[in-house]
Amino acid sequence: MSGVTENDALHAAPKTFYLETFGCQMNVHDSEKVVGTLLHEGYRQVETVEQADLILYNTCSIRDKAEQKVFHRLADFKKLQSQGKKFGVLGCVAQQEGEKIFERAPHVSLVCGSASYRNLPQMLVQLEGASANASLVSEAIDVRDSHPAKIAQGGAAAFVEDSPAHPAGENAGVRDDASIAISPGNARDSVLAARNSGLVRITGLDDRETDKCFETEFTARSNPHRGYITIIEGCDKFCSYCVVPFTRGKERSRTSESVLAEARQMADLGYTEIQLLGQNVNSYKDPAGKRSFAELLAAVGEIPGIRRVRFTTSHPRDFGRDIVQVIDAVPALCDHVHLPVQSGSDRVLHAMRRLYDREQYLERIAWIKSSKREISITSDIIVGFPGETEEDFAQTLSLLDEVGYDGVFSFKYSPRPNTPALALEDAIPDQEKARRLEGLMARQKEIQTPRYKKYIGAIMEVLVEGRNESRGQWIGRTSHNKTLNFTAPKQATTSVGSYVQVMVTGSFPNSLLGEIMV
Ligand code: SAM
Ligand code: SF4
Repeated sequence: MSGVTENDALHAAPKTFYLETFGCQMNVHDSEKVVGTLLHEGYRQVETVEQADLILYNTCSIRDKAEQKVFHRLADFKKLQSQGKKFGVLGCVAQQEGEKIFERAPHVSLVCGSASYRNLPQMLVQLEGASANASLVSEAIDVRDSHPAKIAQGGAAAFVEDSPAHPAGENAGVRDDASIAISPGNARDSVLAARNSGLVRITGLDDRETDKCFETEFTARSNPHRGYITIIEGCDKFCSYCVVPFTRGKERSRTSESVLAEARQMADLGYTEIQLLGQNVNSYKDPAGKRSFAELLAAVGEIPGIRRVRFTTSHPRDFGRDIVQVIDAVPALCDHVHLPVQSGSDRVLHAMRRLYDREQYLERIAWIKSSKREISITSDIIVGFPGETEEDFAQTLSLLDEVGYDGVFSFKYSPRPNTPALALEDAIPDQEKARRLEGLMARQKEIQTPRYKKYIGAIMEVLVEGRNESRGQWIGRTSHNKTLNFTAPKQATTSVGSYVQVMVTGSFPNSLLGEIMV
């Protein structure tokens, strides 16, 4: 047992925290849950690292650059440790690297995996208690990874036991520091000796199978008008380049009843836009078997008070025609589908293990284009995947022309730990990846510019999201997910969170310009 009581720990508690978030909307939403949990625990959020007792980074490991950012941040602020500040790494890098983070950044005290906000209250008590008295012995629980898909690949045990992130026997190579592992789920017990060195190390790695991550009791949403709801966690697709199945774990869906209860609660609180989230949101399977994904979309869109429903990200393999039919039928569903293709070449799609080919992808695009409404389509593309030839890349460019996207997020392929693509030969040199990325962005700009221009003269409804004082403009978002900056005369009652009609008067490659209709 620790010599520190919970009470002592709370007295010595650091009570301010700073949180920086890297990565996708899922991470942004997880951070809202972290903030809610910390506020509930009596902490106060502050704007700068200097003001904070506890400095947290919610991290992304989708590409190497994103992962390195957090280590740069940690290095930048290392000197603040001497002022007694504590550092914590949350999210995907924490889940991926585990205790290795303590080796790279010894001033870190807390390493806590994706969906880890559930464990934060216990971890904070441990952190505070350990800070007050670094002489601790605690029960440690280590998590076994049992992702069925990994077992099928013969990789489950190897992933845990052989990965340096999870050394066999947590305290193999005992260090002179306090080390506590907290984790829920299928566990094995061991006891870690903690040393009286002043360094405190607490790990809470997730079992990556839990559906407790859907509990949102203390979510502190940062926007009072539009908010996220996670409907499905993890991913079972195992694309050959992607780290997500290893960091966010097995695919699991939340019951549609629970999603709808949260959506109704948000509507009662005055939210008018809801964005349903998932790594593959359309792979959703109601555990209670009540609703398909399309039926869930319709049900959220029919909640009184909800004027806009978005959903991201859709995986092409699971994209059914019923999604387009429901967009046609329910006015609150937005005119936008984000459908990442990754490559226009069948050869590369196959090597990426994307589970569809170009023709099947284009079939889905045809369904979307046959909608009664004009639905805007956006995508993600990776250039420079190992073995991608000039001809493969040319096919990706021709796909851009064929689809006519309204926006593309393009990335240079980044080799990631644990992923099968690491073993592929014919790596593309970085300079060549950069050249292809530039070429792709230039082509997309040529496609996008006239697509934006054609809205000049149209009247569009926007949700007002903010104000740019220096330009004297309001910032709005259309149902197509386009930014529409507009001016309004003083007498017009414009406010953030309202919906207004705007006449489009100009266009840029990534935004529209307009005037409010009065
Ligand atoms: N589940 C979504 C799908 O399959 O389309 C994508 C989710 S992933 C978090 C977001 C995007 O990151 C992907 O669509 C892909 O373009 C990009 N990405 C993932 N792994 C990458 C890697 N190793 N290198 C470069 N980009 C990557
Ligand atoms: Fe990653 Fe592929 Fe899963 Fe998307 S579908 S999260 S790219 S493994």
